Amino acid sequence: MVRSRIVADPGADEAQRLAALRRYRILDTLPERAYDDIVRLASTLCGTPISTVTLIDAERQWFKASVGVEDRETSRDIAFCDHAIRQPEEMFVVDNASLDPRFADNPLVTGGPEIRFYAGMPLVDSDGAALGTVCVIDRKPRELTDEQRDGLRALARQVVALLELRRMNLDMQRLLAEREMLTTSLMSYQQELEGRNQALSMEANRDHLTGLMNRGGLDRLKGDARAGRVRFSGPYVVAVLDIDHFKRVNDGFGHAAGDEVLKAVAADIRNGIRGGDVAGRYGGEEFVVFLPDTSVEGAQSVIERIRLAVSGRDDLPTPVTLSAGLAAGVVGTHAVEDVFLRADQALYQAKRAGRNRVEISRD
Ligand code: GH3
Ligand code: MG
Ligand code: MG
Repeated sequence: MVRSRIVADPGADEAQRLAALRRYRILDTLPERAYDDIVRLASTLCGTPISTVTLIDAERQWFKASVGVEDRETSRDIAFCDHAIRQPEEMFVVDNASLDPRFADNPLVTGGPEIRFYAGMPLVDSDGAALGTVCVIDRKPRELTDEQRDGLRALARQVVALLELRRMNLDMQRLLAEREMLTTSLMSYQQELEGRNQALSMEANRDHLTGLMNRGGLDRLKGDARAGRVRFSGPYVVAVLDIDHFKRVNDGFGHAAGDEVLKAVAADIRNGIRGGDVAGRYGGEEFVVFLPDTSVEGAQSVIERIRLAVSGRDDLPTPVTLSAGLAAGVVGTHAVEDVFLRADQALYQAKRAGRNRVEISRD
């Protein structure tokens, strides 16, 4: 692998190096055991009182771990480690800083901690970015053996491995969070679509003149009841309502008046039924009310109230009455078609008995 030479001079390479360092999000984090172990091993291995894992930020060197140093950071312009990362492939060694023109008047040499010996191995990640060093420091001049140098290089590789593992973890967490966000927004999109579908299908099931469910909707409901796709169980009642002599309204007052009557009757049905009940326009002037979880007596009083509301109206072109037939069924016991048929037969009886009444199927 060819590693680009990354220099500390301001410019594209340094900007890239800093961007790479930021991706590790390591600066100013708390001490961690793994890095503490590295500096302990380094100073034991090399026999130096001081060792640090240093990261070179824009204006400072920051110590992720250290032994023999109190500060967490120093200014970059006096940092030995900054020299080290300018030649990232090699270990940077200063045998005696007070005799080295680059460092003789460095405040870290002239004052505390009075550095004489420095050896730093650059931390170069697999993209070639020189992030910092693992270094060992002594207050007296000295040299490292080949074994000590090898050991220091190995420790630098360990730090890079720790850092890269950290970055992979961070990237993974970010990907997971992004995926979760995507899933959430997909789910809410799907919910919105389902809501729209439901609204559309409700529109398709609606009778335009009266706003009640239309025959298609009622037939679907019947199909659901037959297949057991209904939320209720137990007894229910089917009521079939038919406007009396409706033909006469049309013939005597016109089709528009007939429509007006249909809308008025539908309004009385809507106002008369209860929460769980379903009303629909089944044919021309014939309506169906489906009353789940209801006894015959309960249903009778609901339909009777509707009948009285219609016959009591004085706002129509001509007085109108309606007849109704009721039949009871039990989910899972009676076929829903049979219950509809019995309700229709009861309606026929109401018509024969003189209209404007509610009859109940006793079968
Ligand atoms: P009965 O008391 O026996 O039910 O008599 P009826 O006149 O109500 O019954 P019939 O079935 O003979 O007549 C129903 C009429 O309803 C015939 C048809 O022209 C009319 N009709 C059906 N759909 C509509 C509609 O949408 N608007 C109007 N204005 N009339 C309709
Ligand atoms: Mg009629
Ligand atoms: Mg009819």
